[in-house]
Amino acid sequence: MYHLRFRQVHLDFHTSPDIAGIGEKFDRKVWQERLKKAHVDSITCFSLCHHGWSYHPTEVGKMHPHLKFDLLREQFDAAKEIGVNVPVYLSAGLNYRASQEHPEWNEYSAEGKGPNPLHAGFIKLCFNTPYLDHLCALIEEAARLFPGANGIFLDIINQGQCCCSWCKRGMLEAGLDPMKEADRIAYSRKVLENYYVRTTAAAKKYDPEMPVFHNSGHITVGDTGILKYFSHLELESLPTGGWGYDHYPMSAAYSRNLGFDFLGMTGKFHTTWGEFGGIKHPNALRYECAAMLANGSKCSIGDQLHPDGELDESTYELIGKAYSEVEAKEPWCDNVKSLSEVAVLASSAANHKRETAGDVGAGRLLLEGHIPFEVVDAEMEFSRYKVLVLPDDVRVNAALKAKLESYLAGGGKLILSGGSGLDAEQDAFALNLPLTDAGWNPLSPDYIEAAPAFAPEFAKTPFVMYLPSRRIKADGGESLGKIYDPYFNRDFRHFCSHQHTPYRPEPSGFDAGVVSDRILYFAHPVFSIYRGFGMVSLQEFVLKAVRRFLGAELQVKAALPTTARVSLLEQPAENRAVLHLLFATTINRGGAGLNIPGHPFGNSRPVEVIEELLPLADIETSVKLDRPVKSVRLVPQGKEIPFETKDGRVRFTVPELLCHQMVELAYR
Ligand SMILES: [Zn+2]
Repeated sequence: MYHLRFRQVHLDFHTSPDIAGIGEKFDRKVWQERLKKAHVDSITCFSLCHHGWSYHPTEVGKMHPHLKFDLLREQFDAAKEIGVNVPVYLSAGLNYRASQEHPEWNEYSAEGKGPNPLHAGFIKLCFNTPYLDHLCALIEEAARLFPGANGIFLDIINQGQCCCSWCKRGMLEAGLDPMKEADRIAYSRKVLENYYVRTTAAAKKYDPEMPVFHNSGHITVGDTGILKYFSHLELESLPTGGWGYDHYPMSAAYSRNLGFDFLGMTGKFHTTWGEFGGIKHPNALRYECAAMLANGSKCSIGDQLHPDGELDESTYELIGKAYSEVEAKEPWCDNVKSLSEVAVLASSAANHKRETAGDVGAGRLLLEGHIPFEVVDAEMEFSRYKVLVLPDDVRVNAALKAKLESYLAGGGKLILSGGSGLDAEQDAFALNLPLTDAGWNPLSPDYIEAAPAFAPEFAKTPFVMYLPSRRIKADGGESLGKIYDPYFNRDFRHFCSHQHTPYRPEPSGFDAGVVSDRILYFAHPVFSIYRGFGMVSLQEFVLKAVRRFLGAELQVKAALPTTARVSLLEQPAENRAVLHLLFATTINRGGAGLNIPGHPFGNSRPVEVIEELLPLADIETSVKLDRPVKSVRLVPQGKEIPFETKDGRVRFTVPELLCHQMVELAYR
């Protein structure tokens, strides 16, 4: 396994040809001092940018017209001299220069949409054109010129349903019909596979051990066929750039199980890439890096270098605040494995989607409930988990049915909701659940009057559920509550008030869900509803049911607010577990849709901001561990704290949590 360093910077350098004086303020000493002060130990530098310019002399491409020296060589040698790694970046999917010199290499959509000549922005190239030969030659040249590079980073790796002349001809030769979307998608996958084969070989031409990463902004759950072309993973997830603060834990929860070392990639920006002069509060970056450690990964911070080549002073002070903390924490964060006993079987993989509301909602509820979890696809091993969550729309085919039945027979437990567990081919449950089923409720929104054990503290009366439920009756388990139907569905025939039709006075006779020893089933797609609406009432209802279902198996109990995060990792070689507690308050600021002329997003959008970090005190905590513990210490401070072990749980009080606290549980 390729082993990554902890403190990386991804130094974007997409630079217009209309800007002069490229790299003229580059100074070896300043470069080295800024990196050292920022505690950076790896920096990804540019061979080739989205504009299509090279930052070193080239025989294949074209050096930036206003660059007079070998900038990458200077950056590279200056970093290496102080022991900083340098992966080399090449833009693959975007190359504006090539797109203008060879418009025939651009991607063309089936609707006949090509690049808009008046659009100020990059143009996606097709990997099925001679552009791929050009790209591979550029990659080979960079690998030859920079033999000590710590990896080749290739960016913008995707292929649309292209209908350029090469793709049309290729589809016909392969017996596919360019008029059919399914055929276009199938062909684009073939094109992408060829891209992976060719570019990976180009990157490794002079060194078969050269690390390679292909970035498409996301690690798609279930898309494991491409991983043979990767040496490690870089999980792009800029919380303020549209990904949000809950994307990273989900993405990491899947990536942890792919057998790679990986890093999280955030940005120093207030919003996202390409924001010159955008800078976030240091507390936000401290939290983001801590969250990467807590999720078992290394860190990378995105920056954009000014065309003059000088690293921005405030940016590297900002990075230093986060990375000095990371450096102190590293001994407890390397070579970790997760101890999570709960796994979410991703509905995105089951439904061939990049992301689903059900997965995100399940992730959020587990994060808010402080229940450590992994994300798995149907090909992965289930037996290491005590509980498997199937969010909302995981339909079950014959193979999955056999796998789930054997998982249950081996002592596993399932949490299902809405349409999860239904047969892939028909509208009936494929699994033997403790319920009778009467299909989908035609009336919506309906309402839940939760059974007392599961009722939210503040909602004993029926609360609204925004998406339709499955009409089930508990049969062999305990009911989670009663469903109340509305009088009618709101439509042109009849409606009531501004939003929902009220509930009828009598319950419908159906149950809100059922819990038995092995099965917890929610009649609604509770996870999608939570993703969509974020109701606290629903969160309490679901978490009460989940906690009851887990019982003594609940791994971590911590008196923390729902905005805090908890993870439990193990360092087998160090013979210890490490509990991570994280806390920050995020708030949406901005918005209003102010028009920004010429801006790619068009208008101002809300941004999730972290500013102040507030301390939490005296957090009563207990952790269920299979191993006896000899000491409990706050790390990296090194302070031992008293603990007791009872009923298989290690109990202690964390005196203070400010942003991030690790607790080392040393095995006896
Ligand atoms: Zn094409």
